[in-house]
Amino acid sequence: MRWIGFLGALWMSLANTASSQTLVWTGETAPNVDSLCQRFQELYVQIREEAIEPDSARYQFRQIMQSLRSRFQSAESFRLDSARRDSLVRHFGYFVFPLRNYSPDAIGGSRGNGYHSAGFDLFDYRVRCSHPAQDIFIKDRNQDCLEDQSDQPVDVLSMTNGVVLSIKTDWKPGQEYRGGNWVWVYDPLLDGLFYYAHNNAVLVRPGQWVQAGDKLAEVGRTGYNAYKTRSPTHLHLMYLQLQPDGLPKPYNTYRWLLGAKEL
Ligand SMILES: [Zn+2]
Repeated sequence: MRWIGFLGALWMSLANTASSQTLVWTGETAPNVDSLCQRFQELYVQIREEAIEPDSARYQFRQIMQSLRSRFQSAESFRLDSARRDSLVRHFGYFVFPLRNYSPDAIGGSRGNGYHSAGFDLFDYRVRCSHPAQDIFIKDRNQDCLEDQSDQPVDVLSMTNGVVLSIKTDWKPGQEYRGGNWVWVYDPLLDGLFYYAHNNAVLVRPGQWVQAGDKLAEVGRTGYNAYKTRSPTHLHLMYLQLQPDGLPKPYNTYRWLLGAKEL
């Protein structure tokens, strides 16, 4: 039943942006979303464990993304080209800032310069030089994952509406995984993937529909490097824009973060 809610929400977003757009439900023949989430989760773990060749991972990723797309959208006009996407995000207050009670001041680096996409390859875990992401830091000098003033965890909020594709919840110190406990969310309107990493508690499940501003997780220090004392407590936020062929391309979210609604 949750998909009915989703369609309502999606329709409202569309109606706000362009009345000529139509959404066509693809019916029961398309693979169901839960099975696509499961395939994504399995593939992502295989990539992380270097248990799959990058070319084969790339092929499977495209298949999953194209099925996911077709599950959500079939009218050709639904998919936003980059100009319409930019217009949507500029004029409609589309994004929520991903940390509750925080603002863009908490973004690491200067004017978003923590973002380096050169060399990034989602499908080859051995490539380690890039950082196609923004790190957003909380005030946690004693590194207990609680905000210094409030002594409370900091909520990680979904930046947009979307479906939770994959989570990891059982990271342990010493594990190689760099992302620690992660959450992947697919936004069908932007046709892209948000990745929220280093979380402590994760509060959503694959297949779950989330609205912009919904709590996904709490900020943590999970992940091979994030756990080390030299790393201040932060959220690692990455966005991958799907290309027409279904392959991902990193995109710098800095401007989106500057214009995001703060909760
Ligand atoms: Zn990072």
